[in-house]
Amino acid sequence: MYIGRIDLKGFKSFGGVHQLPLEMGMVAIVGPNGSGKSNILDAIKWTLGEGAPSKLRISKQSDLLFQGSMSMPPAREAEVSILFRDGASSTIFTRRVQQDGTTLALVDGQRRTLLELEDAKRRIKMEGDRFAFIGQGEVSEVIQQRPMARRMLLESLLGIDFYRRRRNESSDR
Ligand code: ATP
Ligand code: MG
Repeated sequence: MYIGRIDLKGFKSFGGVHQLPLEMGMVAIVGPNGSGKSNILDAIKWTLGEGAPSKLRISKQSDLLFQGSMSMPPAREAEVSILFRDGASSTIFTRRVQQDGTTLALVDGQRRTLLELEDAKRRIKMEGDRFAFIGQGEVSEVIQQRPMARRMLLESLLGIDFYRRRRNESSDR
């Protein structure tokens, strides 16, 4: 499974419409400081359901909208679509945010709640934080983590955190 394409519209530094065709085996994004590399990772996290401002390096949802530049007006909405390819099948995750901060998620063009998004992610084996996003500065954080926190991270990387959640859910009843 790999990301075949990312479409960005009015998202952060990406004013206007940008299509990033990607290939299987891509391992790095390079570019000068401030050119938008981390913004692309923020776009992926956000589209897969992340909402926490700190994880997206913003203070409020509307910071996700392109602020405008000398040559381009501010965006009225931001939208990101990510195409996941897995052999012959593909799934498109889309997320949109308006100026008032309201957001909308779609999977293959169908509206989904964030809860339903988790199901869709499970189907393409992207559930939880399984595909780790380790941001700048977070490597030292992992080293300094307490044993339990590090165990949680490893469990989510291995995809077995799902069973802990299921066990906790069943023992709650
Ligand atoms: P580095 O190499 O320093 O990590 P980077 O390529 O990861 O750089 P990003 O953090 O992705 O860079 O991009 C930062 C740029 O995005 C800044 O110039 C910032 O002004 C711009 N930016 C962030 N949010 C918005 C927004 N809402 N509208 C316009 N520009 C934005
Ligand atoms: Mg960066």
